[in-house]
Amino acid sequence: MDFVKIDNLVKRYGDYEALNIENISIKEGEMTGLLGPNGAGKSTLINILTGLDEQDSGSIFYNGEEKIPKENIGYVPQDIALYEELNAVDNLAFFGSMYINDRKKVKNKVKDIITMVGLESKAKKTVKTYSGGMKRRINIGAALVHDPQILFFDEPTVGIDPQSRNYIYEIINNLKDAGKTLVYTTHYMDEVEKLCDSIYIIDEGKVILKGRTKELLQSLGKSVLELTVKNSSINDELVSIIEEIPEVKFLSVRQETYYFSINKSIEEITKELLDKTSKNNITIDSLNYSSPNLDTLFLILTGKELREG
Ligand code: ADP
Ligand code: MG
Repeated sequence: MDFVKIDNLVKRYGDYEALNIENISIKEGEMTGLLGPNGAGKSTLINILTGLDEQDSGSIFYNGEEKIPKENIGYVPQDIALYEELNAVDNLAFFGSMYINDRKKVKNKVKDIITMVGLESKAKKTVKTYSGGMKRRINIGAALVHDPQILFFDEPTVGIDPQSRNYIYEIINNLKDAGKTLVYTTHYMDEVEKLCDSIYIIDEGKVILKGRTKELLQSLGKSVLELTVKNSSINDELVSIIEEIPEVKFLSVRQETYYFSINKSIEEITKELLDKTSKNNITIDSLNYSSPNLDTLFLILTGKELREG
């Protein structure tokens, strides 16, 4: 079921169209990844979804309603929003008390969350003494105290140490297990691939690739063969010659490199491939196999790498 449904959403800053999203649906109990380089429009979209900003046109429905009660939303901002002079417990209690009146309930919840984000030993120290990663973890905790149904994470792992990063993945997996609906923005391909049930790749305000993570990766087969050949005269026929091998399907060509999805063992395919190429006087320049991943898929479908910055 759609928890959030976005249709024809446009957001402009002056003349600049920061977002133009035809359709995004965020399924209940799933984790949806919004992947895109800096400036793609991820934060703009999150800000609109959380009610901090407003679209110029288009619709957003939450469970079929145009509005969602604030207390049902958790928002982890890209820029850390904590009181540096307060300790972790007081920070969390502050954010919790915005939604929960019962002080005892807040206190208990804060205790749980401190444990969940792995900062028991630091709980009474002021936030200003924390490392960047610890701040990020408390920043996430602040969005959890009121136990929202849906959580929006805006690049929660940028510029932090691996230990904190792993903590964050663990927190997220716990939230998934608890049945929360999660929306996660990042510019790291491997994160969405690992964490998200479905993916929207956004660039310059538009969705340029979307799908269920599993299906996207399965579309590449068991592994991906990258083949570069020397004799260019044969190139027109190359694809059909290679595709004669069973379980081999042409995906795309980029410059001199041909990509094929293969659905059997690499040993078998290599043998058949060498056979085939020698029979047809094709000289292989390089031969490479890789596991299906989002990087390769993106490269194949768009002919370019995800734009940096
Ligand atoms: P991301 O979060 O994907 O890095 P943003 O949503 O922050 O991207 O920004 C998308 C685009 O909109 C960028 O080109 C950015 O410069 C522009 N932008 C964001 N906020 C504003 C604003 N308040 N005024 C003008 N332009 C903005
Ligand atoms: Mg951003």
